This record gives sequence, C-alpha cells and structure tokens, in this order.
Amino acid sequence: MIHGSSVRVESASWQNLLAGSITDPRVLLARLKLDPGLLAGALAAGREFALRVPEPYLLRMQPGNPNDPLLRQVLPLGEELEDQPGYVTDPLGEQHSNAQPGIIHKYHGRLLLVVTAGCAINCRYCFRRHFPYAENNLSTAEWEQALDYIRQDSSINEVIYSGGDPLAANDRRIAWLTRQIADIPHIKRLRVHTRLPVVIPQRVTDGLIEALSATRLPVTMVLHCNHANEVDAQMLAATQKLKSANITLLNQAVLLRGVNNRLEDQMALSEVLGDNGVLPYYLHLLDHVRGASHFHCSDAEAKHLVGQLLTRLPGYLVPRLVREIAGEAGKVPIHVDLITS
Ligand SMILES: *Cc1c(COP(=O)(O)O)cnc(C)c1O
Ligand code: SF4
Repeated sequence: MIHGSSVRVESASWQNLLAGSITDPRVLLARLKLDPGLLAGALAAGREFALRVPEPYLLRMQPGNPNDPLLRQVLPLGEELEDQPGYVTDPLGEQHSNAQPGIIHKYHGRLLLVVTAGCAINCRYCFRRHFPYAENNLSTAEWEQALDYIRQDSSINEVIYSGGDPLAANDRRIAWLTRQIADIPHIKRLRVHTRLPVVIPQRVTDGLIEALSATRLPVTMVLHCNHANEVDAQMLAATQKLKSANITLLNQAVLLRGVNNRLEDQMALSEVLGDNGVLPYYLHLLDHVRGASHFHCSDAEAKHLVGQLLTRLPGYLVPRLVREIAGEAGKVPIHVDLITS
C-alpha cells in the first residue's frame, strides 16, 4: 500500500480520479520511492508524450521496484527519444483512413468511432501516441455527419467505440450515442474497446451499465489488460457488474518486453482473467511506433511464447497472436506451432 495519496480512491468519483491523475514524474517517483536518477529521462520523454497515471492504477504498483510491470507501461524513459530505424509516428497509416472526423473505417463490416480523444492513462507503447486527437474532438454537426456516414453504408453491421478511450466520455454521451446507433437498422452489434475499467474501475457506474443495457444491440467489451497485477478487487467488481449486464467480456493485450513477455506472466494473465469471465482475445505484437522500441519482442520470441501457452492452457485461454499491418483487411494472424518443452 502506498501512503500519502492525494485522492481518496474509495470515495472519489471516476471523474475526480481521472482529473487527479498523476502527470508530474517527480510525484510518481516520490510516491513509489524510486531513484531520482530516473527523473531527467522522464521529464525529457514526457515532453513528447506526457506521463499520465490514475491513482487506482498507481496503487497496484510495487514501491521501490523500477521494473514493476505496471510502472514500465507508464514511466517515460530517456531511451524513448533515441530514434530507431523502422519506428515511425503513424505505423498504421490511420491518419489517412481517417477520411471523416471521428471515423476510422478500414475493415469490412466494422467501423471505429473515435468517441473521445482522451485516455485515462498514457501507455508508452501506444500506437496512437502521435495521433492528431485534437482534430477528432467532434462538434455536434460532426457527430451528425459521422452518424450519417454509418446510416448510409449498409455494409457496416458493427460499430466499435474507440478513442482515445471511449469511456472517457460521460454516461449521457454514451447513452445518447448508443440510442442513435441502435436506431440504425443495419447495425447488429456494438463493441467497446476500453482500458478504463482496468485503470479506473470506478468508471463502471450504474449509469454506464444502464446505457449499455437499454439497447437492442448485443454489447461486447474488449478490455485492455496487460498483466495479472492489473487485476485487483476493484477491477473484478467492475467486470462483475458488466457481466451481470450481459456484456460479453474479452481482453486484448500487447506483448511488451519487460512487462509480460515471460511465460509465467502470460499464464497468470490468461488464468486470472478467464477465471473471472474475461476471455483472452488478441495478443498484439508491438506496433513500431516511435519511442516504443525498448518494448520490442522478436516474432520468434512471440511465437515461442504463444506456442508454449497452447500446450499449457485450455484453448479458450490462449489469445490469438496478431499483428496490425497498414492496408490489410484485418488483424493479421501469426502462425504458431506447439512448443512442448
Ligand atoms: C482492430 C480493429 C477493428 C476490429 O477488428 P476485429 O478483428 O474485428 O477485432 C476494426 N477496425 C480497426 C481500424 C481496427 O484496428
Ligand atoms: S489506453 Fe489505449 S489508446 Fe490510451 S494510451 Fe493506452 S493503449 Fe493508447
């Protein structure tokens, strides 16, 4: 347990927890009793992509451990600033498929709606760390245009709330949007891609449950949890509420060196999620975004890891290893052979 907390986690609203997130590396290092020698790098790299970590997530880190798997996901490091060949600002070319504000329509039948620009946490490996979110904060007229786009294309049968983190939007916005989408006859299902129930479980309010229950659309929520240490009692209370509302829960993770690239990390993650009704969906290879090269795992290492999972876990607890490649029609599956040793 960490002392000297600035926000009372038990009684705070999710909005207060979001607003009270730690953004100053000095505070983060002091709270975790870490070597002040990390500060210069954190300040420099934080100028490219700011530090942001909400209190409930910080509470799950181990003080004094610079290699804590949760800390590594959020602490800016000086080495992010070293340019690496092949690591670019927009590895997925999304700035070009973003033909209309708020919409990313790259895959058949499915369309991403950028509900909010903001995130509750800044993940250092994020492929959207350089995304021009300012251009994706929609005005009322732009919302209507985005909805018209969906209304006019009957090949779209699934809308995916994305971001940023779509649950950074308030319950009223989610409820309104969900009603608009459900009114479009060719939409058959709704998906929400979010990290908020993991990093600020208090986000799963009764109002959110209400908004996602009061719809004819089957709802799937794809969480983003990278390590078993991210799973605590608050997060499980949140997933339980979502499950009780008949929301299908899946998880996607990113394979990250120094965070979750050991067999025991992946085993523990799949097991704790699966035992609580969240099935692993994707394990993504890192997108080669500038500043994230220190998280890289080779394809061979990734295939070996998932090959081992296939012989150690029930099949439904093994995530699909995928890579995103600009211009492809979907996430590209990586072939994995069984590893018995
Ligand atoms: C990942 C993704 C989807 C959803 O893909 P699934 O394989 O159905 O999970 C849709 N659109 C974009 C742009 C994506 O990146
Ligand atoms: S929550 Fe998701 S979109 Fe936001 S910074 Fe983390 S990985 Fe990126």
